[in-house]
Amino acid sequence: MTIVFVSVFGLIIGSFLNVVIYRIPEHKSIVYPSSRCPYCNTEIKPYDNIPVLSYIILRGRCRACGRHISLRYPVIELLTGVLFAGIYIKYGLALDLPVLFILTAGLVAVAFIDIDHRIIPNVITYPGIVLGFASSFFTGINSPVGSISGIAAGAGILLATAYIYKAVAGVEGMGMGDVKLMAMLGAFLGWEAVLFIVVMSAFIGSAAGIFLVIFAGKGRRYAVPFGPFISMAAILYLFYGQGIIAIYLRTIGYA
Ligand SMILES: [Zn+2]
Repeated sequence: MTIVFVSVFGLIIGSFLNVVIYRIPEHKSIVYPSSRCPYCNTEIKPYDNIPVLSYIILRGRCRACGRHISLRYPVIELLTGVLFAGIYIKYGLALDLPVLFILTAGLVAVAFIDIDHRIIPNVITYPGIVLGFASSFFTGINSPVGSISGIAAGAGILLATAYIYKAVAGVEGMGMGDVKLMAMLGAFLGWEAVLFIVVMSAFIGSAAGIFLVIFAGKGRRYAVPFGPFISMAAILYLFYGQGIIAIYLRTIGYA
């Protein structure tokens, strides 16, 4: 029963994230006005704004003008619903849960805003760093010392990487947004998580880069936004991080 409730809660947060992703880069309020059709600007009635369900009932079209609404809206709602359910299954009912929900929602928003606009907004990362540190006092995810060292590791490693990349390749490969995002993840999850996420996001990013060059015909210099890979790696850490780290340590004969 709880899992149904958590999934529905995730769908509703996903619906809110659609608004966040659309409006934050345009510096608009995320609470006012209510949602409108991106084409005809008609206000969307509450009964047409039910996550996923309304999209299916209206067959992906605006009730007023009939134009096609992007499949991305229900996909983001579903994604958030599935992630929330998964986190509930993995972590159970604990003080950690609301913190992990906020972190996950932030990561979904960051990934899609970065894809759309090539930015990672400070209005997400700065409060995220503060909340991550504050939460370390009362959750089992991290300790205050772990949080501080996580912030330092996150910002430090990526700053160093960005600096080296620029020196070697001669172009900016990473933005300050990525650095602040890593600091935020360090604040929530600690420095071990930072190491995991840096390595894993580089793997995912390289794989995606090769895929884009080969199959999508993108030039090698096609700048891929890095935020989505950091977000994916962070979510992978939330679900399988400890297990993957344990396997790795065993493989190198360390544990
Ligand atoms: Zn419309």
